[in-house]
Amino acid sequence: MSRVLNFSAGPAALPAEVLEQVRDELLDWHGIGASVMEISHRGKAFLGIAQQAEADLRELLAIPSNYKVLFLQGGATAQFAGVPLNLTRRESTADYVNTGAWSKKAAGEAKKYCRVNVAADAATGKYTSIPPQREWRLTPDAAYLHYTPNETISGVEFHWIPESGSVPLVGDFSSTILSRPIDVARFGVIYAGAQKNMGPPGLAVVIVRDDLLGRVRSDVPAVLDWTVMAGDGSMYNTPASFSWYVAGLVFQWIKRQGGVAAMEKLNRAKAQRLYAEIDGSALYRNPVEPSCRSWMNVTFTLARAALDADFLEGAKGAGLMGLAGHRSVGGMRASIYNAMTLAGVEVLIGYMREFERRHG
Ligand code: PMP
Repeated sequence: MSRVLNFSAGPAALPAEVLEQVRDELLDWHGIGASVMEISHRGKAFLGIAQQAEADLRELLAIPSNYKVLFLQGGATAQFAGVPLNLTRRESTADYVNTGAWSKKAAGEAKKYCRVNVAADAATGKYTSIPPQREWRLTPDAAYLHYTPNETISGVEFHWIPESGSVPLVGDFSSTILSRPIDVARFGVIYAGAQKNMGPPGLAVVIVRDDLLGRVRSDVPAVLDWTVMAGDGSMYNTPASFSWYVAGLVFQWIKRQGGVAAMEKLNRAKAQRLYAEIDGSALYRNPVEPSCRSWMNVTFTLARAALDADFLEGAKGAGLMGLAGHRSVGGMRASIYNAMTLAGVEVLIGYMREFERRHG
């Protein structure tokens, strides 16, 4: 068996240690004689798994006790609707900061349910920078302010938290959660799909401040209703139990690595290495303003797009997978989430150098 170095943007690489543990426990979890995916979500075994996962996530992110943690389905996209449906009335205004494809999609979904004010728009700059907050046109009594801390496609990341005053701040942390500490108390809602830094697809985590529950509209589907889900321990219906279990193993793995502070150190180092290599090269280029370059998704183009296919073909031969940029933008993208090691990034850099020597 040989495993490739996986730079996919998501579903993304999981720590090998976690996969090995899943393999070892697959047929018979802790002597119960069945797999986690075959047992009742209401039984003692799964309830223990679920509670441990929540406790570990709370510990990792130091989530204050006045926040609920929900393990839901439908990915982050379901929460693009879940956020306005839980926090607005039709006549409310929600502020959105558009820094890329994902914030645009989130705003587009919200427009179905409430008024949307695009408070700042980085589209004119082709999503290569983040407008400073002093330029944002915020609504004083907005139902919430939504932003996307890391734009997975263009590789643009906030390295600061917006000021929202008394307006609840909502962040789509899908591609950056657990990559470093988060000051949760600054947020009304944090949500994230699991399939990058947390576990397998099929799961989304919502962290919501207690006072924001109960504002939900009466006609909201129960599976999107945070108040219902919080009341039922995310088990109003059958949860994505296997994904929840694997996410729990990932949380324990992060704890063994030294928690999110250790992840931050590692992720900063990986990103710095890769950007330094790109900036120092004549063949590769990253267009993102340095102050908002993503630590998670490092995008780059080759000087001649005609070389793209060769680059990807050679990468495949070298055991490097998932380097093609998103289909909407092309170029290359190396996604270097928590499970990617510094040694893995060094292998990529070695391949990039070798390719440049031959084609530069
Ligand atoms: N938000 C961000 C930042 C993402 O990167 C993605 C997926 N790549 C999504 C939302 C959508 O997530 P899902 O496919 O889980 O609905």
